[in-house]
Amino acid sequence: MIIKTAEFIISNSDVDKCPKDYLPEYAFIGRSNVGKSSLINMLTNHKNLAKTSGRPGKTQLINHFLINKNWFLVDLPGYGYARVSKTAKKKFQKFITDYFEKRKQLVSAFILVDIRHEPQKIDTEFMEYLGIREIPFCIIFTKADKLKPNVIKRNIETYFSELLKTWEELPQYFVTSSSKAIGRDQVLEFIDRTNDQINSMR
Ligand code: GDP
Repeated sequence: MIIKTAEFIISNSDVDKCPKDYLPEYAFIGRSNVGKSSLINMLTNHKNLAKTSGRPGKTQLINHFLINKNWFLVDLPGYGYARVSKTAKKKFQKFITDYFEKRKQLVSAFILVDIRHEPQKIDTEFMEYLGIREIPFCIIFTKADKLKPNVIKRNIETYFSELLKTWEELPQYFVTSSSKAIGRDQVLEFIDRTNDQINSMR
């Protein structure tokens, strides 16, 4: 997919105020600092579409970006940051769960996972949350430039053997690096193909 246009549309913390357009939507979520903003900037070919932040938990809203005027890329807040209060965390959880439970336009979530780390409870629990609600998701492993290919392979195997303790089927996954532009074509092709399937069903 060639990215011709990528426009910021709206930020909010209320799913009812998200764009009314009935366009396919893909939501990006993960722990703070996982490399989500960098990935979004890489995918859209923008230096600064999503703000890359030194300070975790800064972008705590649902952000809609309209891509090529025919699908939405949704940047969701990073979870698992330590610096916010319990009340803020609860409020955060509520609008994120509202988003996943109400947003009919959502086609798939992309859960970002740092390829260097072992499975983290916060991620696997979130996958289970989506699974129970039958919300499709893919895993995007980030920061692949930080490891050698054999370690990448081993870490993915470790990750999936952990998932197989609870899942019968493994999700589709992508290995990416924003600094080396790895995995960009694969993620965009997946979105392109999925959009084609949706359009052919309409
Ligand atoms: P976010 O908090 O998930 O949005 O993460 P950011 O995109 O702001 O990135 C967090 C940190 O990881 C920053 O210091 C980035 O420069 C770094 N980072 C992000 N993606 C990559 C990557 O693909 N490779 C490397 N080596 N560092 C990355």
